[in-house]
Amino acid sequence: MEIYNTLTRKLESIERKDEIRMYVCGITAYDYSHIGHARSAVFFDTFRRFLEFLGYRVIYVQNFTDVDDKIIKRAVKEGKTQKEIAEKYIAEYMKDVQELNVRRATYHPKVTDHIPDIIDFVGRLLEMGHAYEVDGDIYFHVPSFSHYGELSKQSLEELNRHRIEPDERKKDVKDFALWKAAKDEDILAKAVFDSPWGKGRPGWHIECSVMAAKYLGVPFDIHGGGKDLIFPHHENERAQSYALYGVEPVRIWVHNDFVMIRGEKMSKSLGNIVKIRDILKRYSGEVLRYFLLTAHYRSPLDYSEEAIERAKKAYEYLRTALLNVDMEIAYLKTFGDRESKVEVAEVEKYMKDFVDAMEHDLNTPRAIAILHTTANFANKVVYTASLSQLEEIFSTFKTMSGILGIFEKWKRVPELGNEDKNRIIEREKARTKRNFDLADRIRDEFTEKGIILIDTPKGTRWRWK
Ligand SMILES: [Zn+2]
Repeated sequence: MEIYNTLTRKLESIERKDEIRMYVCGITAYDYSHIGHARSAVFFDTFRRFLEFLGYRVIYVQNFTDVDDKIIKRAVKEGKTQKEIAEKYIAEYMKDVQELNVRRATYHPKVTDHIPDIIDFVGRLLEMGHAYEVDGDIYFHVPSFSHYGELSKQSLEELNRHRIEPDERKKDVKDFALWKAAKDEDILAKAVFDSPWGKGRPGWHIECSVMAAKYLGVPFDIHGGGKDLIFPHHENERAQSYALYGVEPVRIWVHNDFVMIRGEKMSKSLGNIVKIRDILKRYSGEVLRYFLLTAHYRSPLDYSEEAIERAKKAYEYLRTALLNVDMEIAYLKTFGDRESKVEVAEVEKYMKDFVDAMEHDLNTPRAIAILHTTANFANKVVYTASLSQLEEIFSTFKTMSGILGIFEKWKRVPELGNEDKNRIIEREKARTKRNFDLADRIRDEFTEKGIILIDTPKGTRWRWK
């Protein structure tokens, strides 16, 4: 398959090998997560699922930033520790993304569990002359690394403009913190750690360099995150790792675009942040997941009530088609197979097209369109195809939707035993004789067992309540 590499600005093939090692930047745990976090989590989870479908073993690392300015600020404000704040919002994040069928990563490392590794990494950068100390702070010296700016494609002049607050202690405006000496706030929030340079805490960027190297080695295959992380976070991360290991640390950098709110960027200052849990009050996690995959990951996705409402309808259409096939399979298993009057060879082609769409830079909108074509086809043949043909349609549909991470908790419609089968026949007879009391009584018997009977022009079908 091929995917767009932010570093080289082109589509690149993923190497044919057994294992893919992948790192995706996680949240800074200081508040409830929003739809932008959801997009990143769902997209990279889908990427992982597709790699696994292709036969790769994926080692997937997603970190948690559990010590940071924002966490400390909130802790001080609420009279809590950094650890209490971070633990709370990490747990809430996991709850949210679980609703979206995002699978747990292979590893979810936290910064505070890796302080000795961070100290070691920073110490080595100091020894190599890529970093320097000022009053207990350690800075990475950007001019010591000649490839700086390549990931975010910025000239040195542009980069110099980014740092607006002059800090006379820094040798260069672009230099950034690897380690920060303890301040009063940090002490209050119990966010201080011992180091050879005195008490302090790590800077933001160093954690990802350290944890990626620890769990995946250097170089590794894929580094992901939201587009907002390209600069400065990933630019700095690359600089640290490249400087220390002397090799390009990541083969392919993958970034997903933003979620816009009615055409505007989501931000605290605009007050238009949409939290995952607020959407989940009104829509299922699967509908939200489906919605997040309707745009290509490198395009912005516009969120609005109308847009998610449209996604819900499209999702329901797919669900109904799948349910109809499943009900017909259960019916044919219970009442006997029939001679097929149709060809279903198309289904194989749909599967091929689906894989093709995903193999070309994870084109989920095209993949979703193919899933809809498959649903249309299923609706067309559901009452004429044979049992084995319907089984093939069902399993193809489930494979596609499984890659997208929807219809995960599907409970197959059950085949009925003889007793139930006879009761259904009895009820149909009662209905033709207009004995609706008996018909209703039999329907209630099924309802009590958790099965809903559905009267169709083709006779009785059933599904789980
Ligand atoms: Zn990161």
